[in-house]
Amino acid sequence: MEAGIVGLPNVGKSTLFNALTSSQSAQSENYPFCTIEPNEGIVSVPDPRLQRITKYIKPQKIIPAALKLVDIAGIVKGASDGEGLGNKFLTHIREVDAIVQVVRCFDDPDVIHVAGKVDPLADIDTIDTELMLADMQTLENAIGKAQRAARAGDKEAKVRLDAIEKCNAHLETEQPLRTLTLSDAEAKAISSFGLLTAKPILYVANVSENDLEGKDPLVTLVRDHADKAGAGIVCVSAKLESEIAELDPADRDEMLADVGLAEPALHHIARAIYKTLGLQSYFTAGEKEVRAWTIPVGATGPQAAGVIHSDFEKGFIRAEVYTLEDLETYGNEKDIRQAGKLRVEGKDYIVQDGDICHFLNKT
Ligand code: GDP
Repeated sequence: MEAGIVGLPNVGKSTLFNALTSSQSAQSENYPFCTIEPNEGIVSVPDPRLQRITKYIKPQKIIPAALKLVDIAGIVKGASDGEGLGNKFLTHIREVDAIVQVVRCFDDPDVIHVAGKVDPLADIDTIDTELMLADMQTLENAIGKAQRAARAGDKEAKVRLDAIEKCNAHLETEQPLRTLTLSDAEAKAISSFGLLTAKPILYVANVSENDLEGKDPLVTLVRDHADKAGAGIVCVSAKLESEIAELDPADRDEMLADVGLAEPALHHIARAIYKTLGLQSYFTAGEKEVRAWTIPVGATGPQAAGVIHSDFEKGFIRAEVYTLEDLETYGNEKDIRQAGKLRVEGKDYIVQDGDICHFLNKT
C-alpha cells in the first residue's frame, strides 16, 4: 500500500516529502517493500501505543509501522491533455492507493504561486478537474467494449456497463468518484480501471508558521471541503516541520515546546495517511522486539500472521490475543493468562486495531 503526494507546483510538496521521509529514520531493512525509487520514501508511523507497551515489556528494539510515500511531480492545468508531465503524472497516480494533496494556505511573497494568488479551493478544483477529465477518458475507452459484450449477453459486462454509466453521470455533475456509492459487484467490475478520483484522499493544508492550528479562513474553506468530500485534513507548516526534523532530539523537544506542539505535525500526517489507506496495526511484544505490524481493516488471524511471514498464513493454528488495556491492568502476560484474559482466537477471527498477538503455527 502506498500513497502519493500531489499538488500544484510550489505548494510545499517536496519540503513535506523530505521532512516526512528523512526525519523519522525508518530503517528500510525492517520493511519488505520491493524497490524504493528516487522519488519514493519510507515513512514510519509513530504510535504512542508502542511506548505504552514498552512500559511493561522492555524490548531490545521497537519497530513502528511504516508506509511508502511517492512524491509525484507537480500537476498543472491541462495535465489530462498531456500538458507538463501530463500522462506520466497520471500514470503515477494510477499506481498509488491513496492521494495526499498538499494545498498552499501560507502567504509568502517570496514564493511564487502558479495561479498568481493563494487560493486553496481553486487549487483543489484545478487538480480535481484534471483527474476527473482523465477518469472520463478512461471510461470512454472502456464503454464500447462493455456495450458490445453486454449486448451479446455477457452478464458481467452488463454490471460493468452499469457501473461505467453511473460513474459518467456522477462525473458530469463535476464530483469526484470517491463520493459515488456503487454496489460491491459494480465496484469490483471496474476496479482494474484504476480510476483516479475514486482513490481516497487526504488534504494537507500547508499553513503559515504563525497559524499552526489553521485558524486562517482559507483553511476553514479547505476543512469544509474535506468534510463534504468525506476526506481527512491535517494542518502543517512544512517549512517549520522541515526545520524541526533536522534538529537532534533534545533541541527538537525544546523547539516543539516553544511553538506549542506536543509532537511534530509529521506524526499526525503519517497516522492520517495510514488511516486514509485503510490500514491499522496489531502488535507483537516480546523481549527481542516490540513491533507494530500493518494490516488492512478486516484482516483475519491467518492474514495478519501472514504479514510476519507468508508461511504463517498457511500454517496458522491459532492466535493468543490480549489488549493494551489488559497489559496495563495486569502488568505482564503471565498474569493476563492467569486472569483468563488471554483470548484464544481461530481462523475466522477479525484482528482488531491495537491487538497484541502471539501466533501459533505449523512449521
Ligand atoms: P513543491 O513545488 O510543491 O514541491 O514545493 P517546494 O517544497 O519545493 O516549496 C516551494 C517553495 O516554497 C520553497 O522555496 C519552499 O522553501 C517554500 N515553502 C514550502 N513550504 C513552505 C511553508 O510552509 N512556508 C513558507 N513560507 N514557505 C514554504
